[in-house]
Amino acid sequence: MFSRTCRKSILHRCVNLKKFGTLNLKLSSNCWKCGFKLPKQFCVFCNSCNKIQKINVDKINYFDIFGLKSIYKMDSKVLEAAFKDLQNVTHPDKFNNESSYEKEVSVFNSSFINQAYSVLKSPVERIAYLLSINGCDVLSENSGTYTKHPALMIEIFKLREDIYELSNINELEIKREEIMKILGELSSEIEILWDCDDVSRVVSHAVRMKYLYKVHLSFFLFLLMC
Ligand SMILES: [Zn+2]
Repeated sequence: MFSRTCRKSILHRCVNLKKFGTLNLKLSSNCWKCGFKLPKQFCVFCNSCNKIQKINVDKINYFDIFGLKSIYKMDSKVLEAAFKDLQNVTHPDKFNNESSYEKEVSVFNSSFINQAYSVLKSPVERIAYLLSINGCDVLSENSGTYTKHPALMIEIFKLREDIYELSNINELEIKREEIMKILGELSSEIEILWDCDDVSRVVSHAVRMKYLYKVHLSFFLFLLMC
């Protein structure tokens, strides 16, 4: 059903996961089709009968899916390649001639993989997710974190005021690029802070990045309409 190259790639990913040691999973499940005991490392297919296996979302996080370390720093090309590899073998179109259960599993897996990719490729969403799986859910909409950072509230308020005073698209574009630059700097700093386990500064940087990104997004949408 799957090309040898694709299968090899998926199996290789299992090896990588083992190398990184990020998966201390107790999956201890068996293949739904043949009963083969599945390896501890996350695998999309049974090594015995080659049937697709449903992703256990309670035990596997978004990083695990792509065989990545659960850290902030990320090579977007590696993420994209891993995403394409996975989608290539789990896309529901590949299961048109399979059982209804396998179709259902492929849709479920594919949706989870898409969601994981969407979150991890966005620096703002990636740090929010990373903090949340480490028990620090400070970036959710209901956390009230924004109000705990008065300096940030003033910065965002002033920034929005500045924007209203800009008179043409060129000025808007320049301002947008300024915000992009700050976002890039924040992201680089978070990479270092995460490696240093400086959680409090990671959080303050992440909150600032989240709200600056919101402003940037409003710029982007506005410029699209111009
Ligand atoms: Zn099997």
